[in-house]
Amino acid sequence: MTVSKDIPVPEKVEGYTQVKLDVDLTNGTIKKSKISSEFCRDWIGGYGFGAKVLWDELKPGVDPLSPDNVFVYAHGPFPTTILPTSSKYGVFAKSPLTGMFGMAISSGSVGAQARRAGINLIVIKGKAPELSYLVVDDDDYYIVPCEKTLKGKGCFDTEEILRDEFQDQRLAVMAIGPAGERMSHLACITNDRNRQAGRTGMGAVMGSKNLKAICFRGTKGTKVAKPVEFYKIAKKLIKVANGPATAKYRDLGTPAGITSYNKLGMFPINNHREGTWEEIDNGTFTGDTLNEDWIVKKVACSQCSIACDHIAKVPKKHPDWPNLFASVDVEMCYSFGSACGNSDWPTVFKCISLCDDLGIDAISGGVTAAMACDLFEDGVITKDDLGYELPFGSTVNLARFTEEMISGKGFAGEIFGDGTKMAGIRLEEKGKKNASSYGMHIKGLELPAFDLHGMSSFAVGASVSIRGGCHLRNGAYGLDAKGTFDRLGYDKAVERGKKIKATEDIYAIVDSYIICKFTRGIYENDAEMAKVYELVTGIPATDESINVRGDAILNLSKCFNIREGWTRADDHPPERFFKLAHTRGPNKGVTLKEDGYQKLLSGYYEARGWDTKTGIPTDATLKKLGLDFVIGNLKPAGGKK
Ligand code: SF4
Repeated sequence: MTVSKDIPVPEKVEGYTQVKLDVDLTNGTIKKSKISSEFCRDWIGGYGFGAKVLWDELKPGVDPLSPDNVFVYAHGPFPTTILPTSSKYGVFAKSPLTGMFGMAISSGSVGAQARRAGINLIVIKGKAPELSYLVVDDDDYYIVPCEKTLKGKGCFDTEEILRDEFQDQRLAVMAIGPAGERMSHLACITNDRNRQAGRTGMGAVMGSKNLKAICFRGTKGTKVAKPVEFYKIAKKLIKVANGPATAKYRDLGTPAGITSYNKLGMFPINNHREGTWEEIDNGTFTGDTLNEDWIVKKVACSQCSIACDHIAKVPKKHPDWPNLFASVDVEMCYSFGSACGNSDWPTVFKCISLCDDLGIDAISGGVTAAMACDLFEDGVITKDDLGYELPFGSTVNLARFTEEMISGKGFAGEIFGDGTKMAGIRLEEKGKKNASSYGMHIKGLELPAFDLHGMSSFAVGASVSIRGGCHLRNGAYGLDAKGTFDRLGYDKAVERGKKIKATEDIYAIVDSYIICKFTRGIYENDAEMAKVYELVTGIPATDESINVRGDAILNLSKCFNIREGWTRADDHPPERFFKLAHTRGPNKGVTLKEDGYQKLLSGYYEARGWDTKTGIPTDATLKKLGLDFVIGNLKPAGGKK
């Protein structure tokens, strides 16, 4: 095994700017410093940078919405190179939604503009005395109070106002909306109108710091270590990225998956009560219908030839939402569509638009709305509570609920405005017994567009995710969809664990590089992914060395969670998957089995070199990964909410 400290690095590594800004919003100071080449080599960028900074600089047990939380912006070595999908950035902090490691990644123009401005990493602490925004404009860094101009503004208006102010339509703006200002645990960050750093409440952390926006623009170029070889390989990758490997994302966008997952009984319907839907079977709610009837434009992020972003338009004759535009992704087709039993496309678009503009994660928002529909169906909440009816299949009332949930107003806002976990707690405090069982989340993060009843491998993959219920921390859903293992059974626990670990490690690299997961398939293999890194940075890399770094990054963020109070019980899917079987489709009668699930979970822990009972990394594993500094520092701080 190659431990990264064995790999020599020069003082200056290419690709990276090696510039870190430390921003103290309480004092209004901004300090510039140099990131060492060793730090770049060991932590790659994005997720890796975020994991190391949070481990080093965040005091365990802090309130995620206090000035003591640390908010990290990071990108990798690739923005502004011609590598496909590389204009990406990540944000990291202790999550108000989970009380654990928070991270969200977005695309658009931000990564590229931040790179042109010459920075790699920003660490933000404290709280501004009033609502403010941060500007990184080449070598000018400053904080601007904006209480009078931007307070209460939506993300779309905020971006436009700031671009007008700078007289520059290319200004990259990461903004929060009113939901972030009120510190909703669901709050996201929006940039380039249609792109969101959505998950784990990173917008709430910005709101808690009185930070309305971060703006970037710059003029600096990027040098790569071996330009001739890099451009040769990058051009080949661009060609592949324009071919069959990504055709479905270009043609139908991510909703291409609706039909295939529905056939397997894996597409969640009515708050995960079912996994197949007649509205998909009959062609009403499919990627094809969406594209034929509603999509008017496809949009690409900077440095991307795939253009997976599909923009829908509601026609001007629509009675409720004329001329509405929304960026549609499969996750929202699930969250505000099938999970809410809603096959009315304009309602889906309206809810997406509310989330993106007013600033909450549209996955979590839709899953929280689905919980409310489900509670309404069972009479746990009523018209008297809400002021209107909210059965599955609601349209105008679903949009009304969504607006109230985002704004924090009314019963919907007070109970559901911070997501499913808090909604369950609040309803149970009001005597609504068992309300928490309607919340489809893991560790507090609402589930993505997979139904786990007949997905025994992904039940583990989604549950072990360090940021909570997520399909982007590992690709274990592919093991179930492709039939790599018996998806209704629980055999080959360690073998499955190794496969889950392998996708998790390489996803950690993808999110550290940072590139889109859609482009994972354009690389011939991990060795080619490593080669690209080496050609840009000059840091020697192999398939083995990048996978070890992915393993180390994953382990470090896991250790962050342990320090915040994580236990094995947190790696568990919602009870519904064990107790309530599908009534139709290929998974009719199927539930997860607790003993089988626990067997697979222990197999995954074993594959990772973690204690199979507690799920805590052993000292030997930490040493092997060069994480010696973690040993002896894993005592829980009791800060998990
Ligand atoms: S694949 Fe989609 S999200 Fe990724 S960079 Fe391209 S347009 Fe943006």
